[in-house]
Amino acid sequence: MSSRNVLVINCGSSSIKFALVNEDNDEFLIQGLAERLGSSEAVLNWQLGDEKHVAQLHGADHKAAFERLLPLVQKASHGKLTSIGHRVVHGGAHFTAASALNREVIDVIRSAAVLAPLHNPAGLIGIEAAMTLYPDLTQVAVFDTAFHQTMPAHAYRYAVPEHLYTDHHVRRYGFHGTSHMFVSRRAAAMTGLPVEDSSWLVAHLGNGCSTCAVVNGESLDTSMGLTPLEGLVMGTRSGDVDPSLHNYLSRTLGWDIQRIESVLTKESGLLGLSGLSNDMRTLIEASQKGDERATLAIEVFCYRLAKSLAGMACALPKLDGLIFTGGIGENASLVRSKTLEHMRLFNFKLDEEANLKCTRGVAGNISAENHPRVLVIPTNEERQIAVETLALIDAKA
Ligand code: AMP
Repeated sequence: MSSRNVLVINCGSSSIKFALVNEDNDEFLIQGLAERLGSSEAVLNWQLGDEKHVAQLHGADHKAAFERLLPLVQKASHGKLTSIGHRVVHGGAHFTAASALNREVIDVIRSAAVLAPLHNPAGLIGIEAAMTLYPDLTQVAVFDTAFHQTMPAHAYRYAVPEHLYTDHHVRRYGFHGTSHMFVSRRAAAMTGLPVEDSSWLVAHLGNGCSTCAVVNGESLDTSMGLTPLEGLVMGTRSGDVDPSLHNYLSRTLGWDIQRIESVLTKESGLLGLSGLSNDMRTLIEASQKGDERATLAIEVFCYRLAKSLAGMACALPKLDGLIFTGGIGENASLVRSKTLEHMRLFNFKLDEEANLKCTRGVAGNISAENHPRVLVIPTNEERQIAVETLALIDAKA
C-alpha cells in the first residue's frame, strides 16, 4: 500500500490553517494559512517545499477560500487524498476520542458550541465546507478536549452545586489534548519507556498555555478547565484569578460581563502585565534591555507555571520526566531555567549547554546528570491529528 495523505484543517473565525501530512514523510507536503476571511484583505499564504506563495482572495469567505486552496492540496497530493482531519476545540463530555464525521456528530459538535462559542462554530464552517466539496471522503473530527476525558472526577469536578454539573455541563474539560498526547508519546519513544508504564508532567507553552499530568498514556489532570481561560498566565489570557474579581470589577467600575471576559481573555496575561506585548520573544528582549514590566511579566509567568506543575505532580505515581513544548517551551531556555528554579524540592537541575541548544525544533534531554529528566519536544498537532484520523479509518476498514 502506498503511503497515505491526510489534509489537516484548523479553522478559526476568520482563518483556515492547513497542512497536508504524509504518513511516511516528516515534512508537510504543503502547508498554509488563509486569513482575514470575510474582509477585502482576505489572503492565502502557502508553502510548497521551500517555496512560499501568496494569493489575494478579495472578500473570500471560508468556502471560497477552500475552493481556492483545495486544488493546491490535490496537486501536492498527486490526486491521492485519503482523508481530512478537522481540529475541533470542544467535544464536551461526549467525545473521548476522534470521531468520523456524519450529521449526528456534527449536531453534537454544534451543541457543544455553548461551551466554546468562539471556536466550535468556526470549526463547523470548515467541516461543512469540506464535506460539501468532498462528499465522498471520510472526514474525521479530532477534539482538543478528548484526551482529558480520562481525568478522574476529583480532578474534573468544580466545588459548585451538583445540578450545575448534571444539568449545565459545568466541569473541567481541559484543552491542548492533541499536543499533550503527542509529546508524552514522543517522550516515551525517546527514552525507551513503554507508554503504558510512564509518568510525565507536560508544559505546553504557546500563545495558550496549559500543564498536564500524563500517566500510562492517559491525562489525569490538566490546568485548563471549563474554558481555555483557567490556569496559567498566557499571551493575552489572565489564567486563574479570584472568582470574585468579576464582582469587584462590576461593582467598582460598572463593567458588564462581556467587558470583563474580554479584558481577561484579550488584554491580560503577558500583554496585560508588561503593557508591551503578548509575545515572549519580545518580552525577553525588552527585559534584557532593562524593561521592568517585561521582567515582571516573565517572572509571574514562570512562577505560576512552576506552581501549576508542582500541583500536577499530585496526580503522578512517579516522575519519568518533565516535558516543555509549544513556541515558548520549545525555544525559551530562560523560561525553562527560571521555572525550574522555583521547584527546588523536585531536585531539577539543567545542563545549561543542552538547555541553550534546544531551540528551533531541536529536541533533547536538557537535565544535568543524576537529576530528574527534563525534555524539550517540539509538538506537532497536525501530525497527531493525521495519525488519529488514519487510525480511525483503519479501525473502520
Ligand atoms: P505558539 O502559539 O506555539 O506558536 O507559540 C507562540 C509563542 O512562542 C510566542 O509567545 C512567541 O514569542 C514564543 N516564541 C517563539 N519563538 C521564541 C523564541 N525563540 N524565544 C522565546 N519565545 C519564543
